[in-house]
Amino acid sequence: MAQSREEFLEWLRSIEKKWQEKWREARVFEASPKSGLPKFFITVPYPYANGPLHIGHGRTYTIGDIIARYKRLRGFNVLFPMAFHITGTPIIAFSEMISRGDEKTVALYREYIGLYVEDESKVDEILESFKNPLNLAVFFAERIQRDFEELGYSIDWRRKFHTGEPIYQKFITWQYYKLAEKGLITRGDHVVTYCLLHQQPEGEDDIQDADVNPVEVLEFTAIKFKLEDTGEYLLAATLRPETLFGAVNLWVNPRAEYIVFEWRGEKYIVSSEALVKLRHQHSEEEFVVIRTVRGSELIGKYAVSPLGQRLVVLPARFVDPDNATGIVYSEPSDAPYDYVALMELKRDPSVLRDYGIDPSIVASIEPVKIIDVPGVEGHHAEEAVKRANIVSQDDSRLEEVTSEVYREQFYRGVMRVENPEFNGLPVREARERLRSKLYAQGLATPFYELNRKAWCRAKGKIIVAKITGQWFINYNVEWLKEKARELLLRNELVIIPSKYAKQFLDVLEWLDKRPCARKRGIGTKLPWDPEWIIESLSDSTIYMAFYTIAHTIREGGTKPEMLIPQVFDYVFLGQGNAREVSAKSGISAEVLEEMRREFTYWYPVDQRHTGIPHISNHLTFYILHHIVLFPREYWPRVISLNETVIREGAKMSKSKGNVIPLRHIVTKYSADLFRLYIAWAAELDSVLDWREAEVSRVVDSLVKFTSIAKQAAEATCTELEEDLFTKWFKNKFAEIVAKSTAMLENMEIRKYVQHAFFDMLALVDRYRDFEGSRYICGVRSVLKEWITLLNPVIPHLTEEINSWLGGREFLSTSSWPGLRAYEEDLVVLVDNIERVVSDIREVMGLLKKPASRVYIIVAPEWKREIARLVLSGLDLKSVIETMRSKYGLKGREVEIVDAYNTYKKMDKSELEKITKTTSKREHEVLVAVREYLKSKLGLSVEVVWEEEARHRSIPRAERALPLKPALFIE
Ligand SMILES: [Zn+2]
Repeated sequence: MAQSREEFLEWLRSIEKKWQEKWREARVFEASPKSGLPKFFITVPYPYANGPLHIGHGRTYTIGDIIARYKRLRGFNVLFPMAFHITGTPIIAFSEMISRGDEKTVALYREYIGLYVEDESKVDEILESFKNPLNLAVFFAERIQRDFEELGYSIDWRRKFHTGEPIYQKFITWQYYKLAEKGLITRGDHVVTYCLLHQQPEGEDDIQDADVNPVEVLEFTAIKFKLEDTGEYLLAATLRPETLFGAVNLWVNPRAEYIVFEWRGEKYIVSSEALVKLRHQHSEEEFVVIRTVRGSELIGKYAVSPLGQRLVVLPARFVDPDNATGIVYSEPSDAPYDYVALMELKRDPSVLRDYGIDPSIVASIEPVKIIDVPGVEGHHAEEAVKRANIVSQDDSRLEEVTSEVYREQFYRGVMRVENPEFNGLPVREARERLRSKLYAQGLATPFYELNRKAWCRAKGKIIVAKITGQWFINYNVEWLKEKARELLLRNELVIIPSKYAKQFLDVLEWLDKRPCARKRGIGTKLPWDPEWIIESLSDSTIYMAFYTIAHTIREGGTKPEMLIPQVFDYVFLGQGNAREVSAKSGISAEVLEEMRREFTYWYPVDQRHTGIPHISNHLTFYILHHIVLFPREYWPRVISLNETVIREGAKMSKSKGNVIPLRHIVTKYSADLFRLYIAWAAELDSVLDWREAEVSRVVDSLVKFTSIAKQAAEATCTELEEDLFTKWFKNKFAEIVAKSTAMLENMEIRKYVQHAFFDMLALVDRYRDFEGSRYICGVRSVLKEWITLLNPVIPHLTEEINSWLGGREFLSTSSWPGLRAYEEDLVVLVDNIERVVSDIREVMGLLKKPASRVYIIVAPEWKREIARLVLSGLDLKSVIETMRSKYGLKGREVEIVDAYNTYKKMDKSELEKITKTTSKREHEVLVAVREYLKSKLGLSVEVVWEEEARHRSIPRAERALPLKPALFIE
């Protein structure tokens, strides 16, 4: 047996390789329909093959594999397949950057390739081949497959595919014909997130960090303020047009560049960044640039608002020329930024002189209160800013104060203005009404902006554009949403952990039309408009169905062009018959029937396990597309989710250089170590914080486990007569089996590992303590079941131990331990012995002289009876009466009252423990452990009944309570 952690891990890696090889040779994870066997079809997201995966991905995939392996041991015919996603622009973008020699990208990919390839010259060669994007995708798809194999995932690899393959594209073609048939495909103008570098719409899959930090499109109202001197309009943008009533001045950024341009026959001014956005939002219209001006040139001018207010233009640093139009109006009563900027100018008017503005102009500007919020007396912004003690517009806390104020106003605010049409309206109604009015009268125009700055993966700037002729999937269809809600609310589709079900329902509320195709990228062409390519979140919604037939298509020698829509109509929907479809497609009837058999056997997906960030897009689309395309019996059954992984308290990111790629797991750690740690270190709904020190402790536990298993496997044990401790040990083990099973059924993976591995190791320690060297035979007697229990999480090591036990069959395909009833009273009583020992030690510690003998005094059954009566809620008077009549306990009321009061103060669980046992059994157990106590304490031990002790006048006898015997030490 290896000694150091490093040696142990090296040994572990070597047996991992060995067992992977054996599984592969025996093809144990290749799953085919078997009539009569219950099936279990589990899927995880197919990885995006543009680079190596890291331990965050590994968490999701490992949990998927643990479930797959557990179900297999429970007797299910399990299908756990895998494929690769390569659709869209990211892979092309990286390939292009490598082609044009972008230094950062080349360095990054050199590092990626280096994870798998040592030979430098080979690295160059491979990098060169990445100039063809498909090579890049295939390289990483193959490497990810190797990583997964080396992590011991029980995947049926015969069924793999990638989304750039022609056979897959035929499947997607069928899907889109169907969606169009059902009326879900629409076309029209649409605001989309749009990449300025690639000149095309790009969605959350292409945008950096969009999965964790979502990008949303906001509609600003860009209001026209007419400059008095030139008649040009300043377009000031706001998300809260109702505050126009309280506008007191305009803000521009003095250092920003603004453009005067002609549009729709009028002259406007916005920041130069904003003009780019406006052009993309009105691509059919003409914009003529007249001149460029500095922000500083606008300061001091006066402009008139649509409500007739005459406002001066003032300078403000907080105005971001790259946010909306780069011009805002100031409403300091309700907007904390406006308030702080105004106060700053009043405090230090020197800046105003630079612009030739008389400071008295600013001094005379005061906030105008226009919104009442219950509990806010003065100006809302002023109060909030003063409470937070903010004096500068550069204070980062302003963001938070602002959103708090805005939230309160939105939900509780009421307009207080002279205009009778608006006075008394709730803020949200006033907002809608004024916005519509301004639009209708041509006094404002919508301006679309993102909720945050965003870039695509290839560093292209993302803005909001309006696309004409864009193809959409319309998810905003009431019958469809209603069916999805029904599935969730009736628990026909179970979400685990259940708290996330609400998020699915929320997504259904706002989900609308969604662009489904782009003009660029890898993927399937829209069958009726081949200029467009179906994008990555739109071609990954029902691919689980393709797993059921991918290998049959390949093995049957089916050419892509044979996969006409009627083939899928037959296979998935049972339309037509095999002979007709065979005649039309050229695929033999046998192959068609085989495909249909595979699909109808495996579908529906019994469980899909994935990461939480997928709820609002992929997972919701998965549900909706299944509802649209398949009969009800094939709709998803369970979706389970897990949180992300961070490292040593920090988010993993390329820039921090703290990402652990999966490759390092199989070269520097070990598959079983990773699986055990990642399954145990956090509950599914918690972020897992990878801590190296904890990982090392888990290695130590694995070393200990292996050593115990080795000794047990090698021990020669005669049929041993079960003593009390062995009985207890086996009962405790039965309890662990029951708990572990329940935890796995509940997807409480962390608790399962805690019971089956860590608690069990601690149990073996205690058992050895009680039993001495013979314990190893007790361990041996449960070892086969123990390793089976652990096989889902540490499959390699448990296969190895199984071979030490002479097992000839794979443990991975054996059967889960049976659940046995266990003697709870024995478990409670022996577990309690440690407390008795520590109580005795405590008393010994108080003695002045050395002790020679301890009397352990056991309480009579009537004291337990009182516990039962307390638990059933009986009052003291009735308890005393019952005791008198049933046990003839006259004159012992003081003891009864004492016991009653003691129990009253106890936890319910403690009381329940007492009532699970009997006094007789407690006495028996204490007598049986006398020898153990003797050797543990170095005292002679006498176990006495309370009544006998009283006869013998042994002091303190009356203090005996169930599970808390009285102690007297001589
Ligand atoms: Zn881009």
